[in-house]
Amino acid sequence: MEIRYSERLHRLPPYLFVELDRKKREAISKGVDVIDLGIGDPDLPTPEFIVNRMKEAVAHAPYHRYPSSNGMKAFREAAATFCNRRFSLDLDPDTQVTALIGSKEAIFHFPLAFLDPGEVVLVPTPGYPVYHIGTLFAGGETFYLPLKEENDFLPDLNSIPSDVLKRARILWLNYPNNPTAGLATGDFFSQVVDFAKENGIIVCHDAAYSEMTFDGYRAPSFLETPGAMDVGIEFHSLSKTYNMTGWRIGFAVGNPAIVEGLKKVKSNADSGQFEAIQDAAREALLSDQSCVVEMRRIYEERRNALMEALKGAGLKPPCPKATFYMWVKVPQGHTSASFAGLLLDEAGIVCTPGNGFGDPGEGYVRMALTVPKERMMEVGERLKRIL
Ligand SMILES: *Cc1c(COP(=O)(O)O)cnc(C)c1O
Repeated sequence: MEIRYSERLHRLPPYLFVELDRKKREAISKGVDVIDLGIGDPDLPTPEFIVNRMKEAVAHAPYHRYPSSNGMKAFREAAATFCNRRFSLDLDPDTQVTALIGSKEAIFHFPLAFLDPGEVVLVPTPGYPVYHIGTLFAGGETFYLPLKEENDFLPDLNSIPSDVLKRARILWLNYPNNPTAGLATGDFFSQVVDFAKENGIIVCHDAAYSEMTFDGYRAPSFLETPGAMDVGIEFHSLSKTYNMTGWRIGFAVGNPAIVEGLKKVKSNADSGQFEAIQDAAREALLSDQSCVVEMRRIYEERRNALMEALKGAGLKPPCPKATFYMWVKVPQGHTSASFAGLLLDEAGIVCTPGNGFGDPGEGYVRMALTVPKERMMEVGERLKRIL
């Protein structure tokens, strides 16, 4: 029998990094000492107290049964407490919080609750690919909002044509931003609330990097904006904050009716996350956050080392105040792909071509702070040799 894939699988965007991945593997197999700044995954381990909690929890027999899909009460309470302490929020763990199996699954599933065929999702570009993929799988249309450096990587909500606006149901935002490291201001979030109310649009804020901030900067929650609770939901993840990408745990908070819609989809798609993982995640959320302070210190040091390295080579990216990414404009005469190719071929440095995150990312590469400080200094040495 010939196996036929669905139309939606055929419509998936092509994976742009095939050639770069092949070159990287080739370099490694030839024995090149590759420095990989391409991966958005913390290289540091999960803090020990969280792992220790997991070790105990895994033996707790009641956790061996099916969890509830929206998360155990103790976890939802911890998520609410975390947010209420960290932001000026007053969340109800029963109606305004749901557990997630990592935020990616919920970002993917979300449009299934609110989007009908032919309706539009507003998606920032360059951006996390799942906003578009979730829209595509739900039978919706994506309308891209370019994030440009001259607009501080904030979308221009006034540029959306009125026929698109009429069909728009959902707006995705992500600050601190992957891949640009752009930040949202309170003023921008207020504009978003007005825009959402005027046009009947649900605002989904992806806050995966809310805790990964430097130089004393504290990222706001979208939900702190006056009126935001009427229109919004925010997706939080333990992945980056506590080096827990492999554990698959996060939570969404916000407007009860919006959270309810997501819960409805999820209760039909999954049966929740292993309660031992929820227990360990609860320990992380209720801790004194000193591990997060340490995480920030380490990335800040690496960021400073990479800034020095890039400056020494004549590149002058803006210094990111958040996220573990540096969004670097490529030198004159280069494209994202040609510059990434040059760095790999001549210096054994892997970075991600910016156009892979969307067309307006052309002319940039993304470098991740996921290697130790000493390796960042080595990046500087190598760049000086080739640029
Ligand atoms: C890493 C990341 C996530 C988090 O994904 P998880 O599924 O929670 O591991 C979400 N959004 C963005 C923009 C990210 O970079």
